[in-house]
Amino acid sequence: MRSAIVIGGGVVGAAVAHDLSLRGVKVTLLERDSIAYGTSGRTHGLLHSGCRYVKTPSVARECYMENLIMRRIGPDLFETNGGYFVGITDEDLEYAEEFLNGCEAAGIPVREVKPELAIEREPNLNPRVRKVFEVPDATFDPLKVVLSFLATAKKNGAEVRPFNEVIGFKVKDGEVSSVEVFDRISEKRYRLSADVYVNATGPWAGLVAKMFGGRVSVTPTIGVMVSIRRVSTRVINRLNPPSDGDIVLPQRRLSVIGTTSKAVRDPDLLPKSREDVELLLRRGAEMLPLISREEVKAVYVSARPLVGEVKGSGREVSREFSVIDHEAADGVGRVVSVVGGKFTTARLMAEKAGDLIVKKLGMDAPSKTKEVGLLPHYEYFEVS
Ligand SMILES: Cc1cc2nc3c(=O)[nH]c(=O)nc-3n(C[C@H](O)[C@H](O)[C@H](O)COP(=O)(O)OP(=O)(O)OC[C@H]3O[C@@H](n4cnc5c(N)ncnc54)[C@H](O)[C@@H]3O)c2cc1C
Repeated sequence: MRSAIVIGGGVVGAAVAHDLSLRGVKVTLLERDSIAYGTSGRTHGLLHSGCRYVKTPSVARECYMENLIMRRIGPDLFETNGGYFVGITDEDLEYAEEFLNGCEAAGIPVREVKPELAIEREPNLNPRVRKVFEVPDATFDPLKVVLSFLATAKKNGAEVRPFNEVIGFKVKDGEVSSVEVFDRISEKRYRLSADVYVNATGPWAGLVAKMFGGRVSVTPTIGVMVSIRRVSTRVINRLNPPSDGDIVLPQRRLSVIGTTSKAVRDPDLLPKSREDVELLLRRGAEMLPLISREEVKAVYVSARPLVGEVKGSGREVSREFSVIDHEAADGVGRVVSVVGGKFTTARLMAEKAGDLIVKKLGMDAPSKTKEVGLLPHYEYFEVS
């Protein structure tokens, strides 16, 4: 049986472990912290309709198609209340045409709703809302989605090792021949070998690639989020090109206002400030005025793994993803990186990475993740 070591226990690593296990590859996944410790565990939790990314129609379409697939393979993982894009100012209304054209080009179903009806359904909406579009957004608890991918991977033979950090690679004759791992629980080091190695470490992907002499161009781009008591049934988006504080998203009993965007150097150093929080509350209150009076329950931050060199906010950078064959790119064999994208598109990222990996392994094994249902998250703890 052919084997793979997947590095990174975020949504992308988990989806890759699931994809490869279904294709008959023996997977060992190594995560340096707890599962979903990185960006995936601190994401906003929006299963994107794609409408936010109409500037890049291919990404908008990708999000929408994955939204449909994820609902099908994990029906209990998502709250499917939908979303509103709400226009309040003249500027918002000017964006409506571009928004609608983009959604249409991407094949995303959008319906205009009369403001009075939207306010009846969402009584906390700003009464000055002038235009409302209903879109197929949904929300999720990120940890449950990651654990569901991993539960299914484990059932199909994968082994998952949290608190096991890759600290080095042995490269022999132009190929990775093993990884050096530090077990953070036993505090012991060991080596592990496989037929192929997958770098799925999100904002850390550039640092990990450096260890084997490869290059991944990724810029950690931080986003701050603020949670308050739940104030809407649906996802409330501002009818504007992506900007700070323009989504208020219901997340179980809470609402999460997000997010900011700023490129940083170190994915382990993620600053958040009082100004970030004030900005998010102010912007959120433009859509749902009662937010200005709500108690802040939590403030948290994580880093988007944006592909390429990003300066400034990174808002203009497309949410495309890259699958990198380091043999072709850097002359280092047996290692592939998969980086970028969105939580929403992780399954697709894994499918594309899996296609390349089985080709490298000389296997004829198509991806099955579009069809196979995911196990419930709690089975992660039950499958040995
Ligand atoms: C503020 C914010 C809000 C977002 N909201 C949404 C949203 O609502 N919807 C959406 O679709 N997307 C959203 N995204 C994007 C999405 O969260 C990310 O694209 C996605 O979670 C990245 O997953 P990943 O697996 O690539 O990275 P990560 O989740 O960061 O996983 C990488 C893992 O690799 C591990 N690792 C690093 N180095 C090593 C090593 N040496 N050895 C072993 N393990 C290692 C890390 O600990 C980490 O767990 C958001 C992003 C941000 C920042």
